[in-house]
Amino acid sequence: MKSIMKAVRPASLQFVSRTIATRSLPSIRSQLPLPRYNCLRPASSLSPAVLSVARRSTLGSNSRHYTTGHISGPGAPRPPKDNKLKAWPFILIFVTGAVAFAAVLENRKDKPKPMPPTDTSKSLPKLRDDGPVFSPDDVKVIFVLGGPGVGKGTQCANLVKDYHFVHLSAGDLLREERTRSGTEYGELIETYIKEGKIVPMEVTIVLLENAMKKSIEAGKHKFLIDGFPRQMDQALKFEEVVVPSQFTLFFDCDEETMTKRITERGKTSGRSDDNPESMLKRFRTFNETSMPVVNYFDGQKKVVKVDGAKSVDAVYADVKAHIADRLK
Ligand code: UDP
Ligand code: MG
Repeated sequence: MKSIMKAVRPASLQFVSRTIATRSLPSIRSQLPLPRYNCLRPASSLSPAVLSVARRSTLGSNSRHYTTGHISGPGAPRPPKDNKLKAWPFILIFVTGAVAFAAVLENRKDKPKPMPPTDTSKSLPKLRDDGPVFSPDDVKVIFVLGGPGVGKGTQCANLVKDYHFVHLSAGDLLREERTRSGTEYGELIETYIKEGKIVPMEVTIVLLENAMKKSIEAGKHKFLIDGFPRQMDQALKFEEVVVPSQFTLFFDCDEETMTKRITERGKTSGRSDDNPESMLKRFRTFNETSMPVVNYFDGQKKVVKVDGAKSVDAVYADVKAHIADRLK
């Protein structure tokens, strides 16, 4: 406490003495015989100290034209400090705060909404962790990726006709599950699809694995898995617990072309995500979440890239040319 008082005392004394000096300045001024000097002696003959005080008194209290330094010594009046609160720092703080607040609001508006907490998350299907259920020697999987509406389904149908693949669309399986009576995931799937988000991988991987099992039991071992994996966790987990893929067929396309295709498809598809709002969210998810999957497999030299912006026949011709040797 004592040390605080020690520190505070000199500072407060200084403040008090300055205040007294400033407040009493007008009375000091009034005692100076300024008019006489001004009338009788030329300005050049006045001492700098007197000139300084004289100037101050004629310029008024708001003037800043002080000649400090000429009046010195103990008891000499100090130039009055402008004790009025200056407004500009407060204006600056207010403007900075307002700009920062507006930026935060803008940022929030732009960000995709976080998904609502899912109370089913505790009851998501449990995935095994004892290695892949199928061997890549027996079961061949080709992942088919590309932005929304790029034409994955159409090209898969062509490949099924010519090469007898089983075509499994992750999106179709999810939509089927959403409306299956007795499912506990209907609401969860609908929310994710509408928001253009990726359904928790446990649900999708179990649906794919079950569908694959059915086909394998029927003697079919070649799969085109369309629209999957769309997120890194799905890619890693599927290869870990189901089967490692052969390669990924990736359809590259600009958003303008995909927008036109989805708009056209939306007229008849009845899909809850074929609308402008969901479409934008799906593009965003594709760029931020699914492209890293393509890049990951590309790093393993397991991506076949085809220009998806051409006509259906031209794209299919490219697909066949690119993958023919891989399908033997
Ligand atoms: N979806 C998902 N996980 C997947 C595949 C699809 O959550 O592995 C969801 C996602 O919300 C996606 C929607 O299903 O936006 C539609 O997928 P689909 O493949 O049918 O879309 P497409 O690419 O054919 O336009
Ligand atoms: Mg599709």
